[in-house]
Amino acid sequence: MELKKTILIGLSTVGVVGVGYAIYWDYMRRTNPEFRKKLKESKKRAAKQKKAAEKDAKVKAAGFVRKAVEEVSNESLPVDVTAKEKYFMEQVAKGETLLSGGDDCFLEASLCFYKALKVYPNPVELIMIYQKTIPESVFNLVYEMMSLEVKKKQAEYFDNFPPKDMNVKIEEISQNASYDDHVRRGLFAIKDFSPGDIIFNELPIVSALDPSLETGDYCSYCLKELTGEQFSEESDLFEAVYCSKICKERATDEYATLLFISSDQNDSESKEARLVELVKSGNVKYPLIIARFLAKMVYEETQKVASGVEEEYSTWDHIERLRFLSVPATDKEAKEIKLLRDLFSKKVPGMEEFISEERYLMLKGKLMYNAYGINTSRSNENIRENTDETVRSSKAPVIGAGFYRVASYIAHSCDSNTETRFPNRNHELSIVATKPIKAGDELKISYIRTGQRNSENRRSELETKWRFRCTCTKCLKESEEYDEYPNPA
Ligand SMILES: [Zn+2]
Ligand SMILES: [Zn+2]
Repeated sequence: MELKKTILIGLSTVGVVGVGYAIYWDYMRRTNPEFRKKLKESKKRAAKQKKAAEKDAKVKAAGFVRKAVEEVSNESLPVDVTAKEKYFMEQVAKGETLLSGGDDCFLEASLCFYKALKVYPNPVELIMIYQKTIPESVFNLVYEMMSLEVKKKQAEYFDNFPPKDMNVKIEEISQNASYDDHVRRGLFAIKDFSPGDIIFNELPIVSALDPSLETGDYCSYCLKELTGEQFSEESDLFEAVYCSKICKERATDEYATLLFISSDQNDSESKEARLVELVKSGNVKYPLIIARFLAKMVYEETQKVASGVEEEYSTWDHIERLRFLSVPATDKEAKEIKLLRDLFSKKVPGMEEFISEERYLMLKGKLMYNAYGINTSRSNENIRENTDETVRSSKAPVIGAGFYRVASYIAHSCDSNTETRFPNRNHELSIVATKPIKAGDELKISYIRTGQRNSENRRSELETKWRFRCTCTKCLKESEEYDEYPNPA
């Protein structure tokens, strides 16, 4: 058996980042049809060979897998590097010995390989090694354990998120006539608030200025209005300007190096230069936010591999449950997808496949549904707003947009009980109570500027941009439909 040798080689290349955890989790969640097809095919083949015996074994294996995952989740795994290495080698050695015991020992062997995987710094790499080196039936068992663990983690998501100190919880809402068949979730207060109270503050996953404002008036990273010293990076093709060293460093680490620093600075046809051209000439922030989002995901993976610390939920986990609009694939999107795929494929293995049309359109649809308009400007003078890209905003004007994990869950009402503020005059969002709110109340925010508009006018904007017919109390009263809805929003 070559397993140990291969793994030792694998260990020595641990620093290399390829397809990361988030991509891998996603891949496990059946978004890689090829992999699932292969798995299915191999399952079919095996099933043909020994049907009856298989059935019994399957039932036994499923029980074993369930128990194993439960057990391992309660076990405290080693934390420091040396202990992890020792544990890893022990499990692999034990697994190998069990393999030589034949079919009867395969269940126990799979548990060892699963345990080893739990402490290995780059699980994707190890999965690939397993695939080549351990018997298929054992590999499938390890795969089942990983899948089950992912499912469990997914199911527990809303128990752990948002953190309690944000004063809110996410809950499912029973359907009413205005919504489609999807589960709708809303954000609920877990304590009382008075008008003017900050309910929670939140930093965005990613944000961006309207590209036409990337002229040195605002920080390209935190969107703060620039007044004092400015910072920039000479080799940055996007020519971003920052308010501080910290913003510059964050932007550089999270996305700028990947997106805007080309190996050939003078090549105006480089992928990086073409991304700048696409974003700036079209004054479109969404392709830019998506590019930053994908780059940030890669950055998080790199951090995880480097530090060995795994955040419980990745950025991808966070956005996965958010509502989104379905965006049709036009030539414009096709161009954006191609450009990003070309750019990422050059630098990050696995990303070309990850940026599928479906996934890109979904990300864009999530931004269009959930992003909040940001305004950090003091004077509001000279702001020519870009109104082509949908953002939630009850106040004019906006200078950019941010994508927020928790605030995204707030539903719309023309008669809202909260509003957004940017008290630090940067992209940090505060959700502030505008009415008395009791623990258990759902938070509502206006996605649009309500002003003196009548319900027809408001509804028409909401229907165009968010594709729902508003059934808030205000709209129902104004349109005299109040009695038709038992539970108005
Ligand atoms: Zn800044
Ligand atoms: Zn309404």
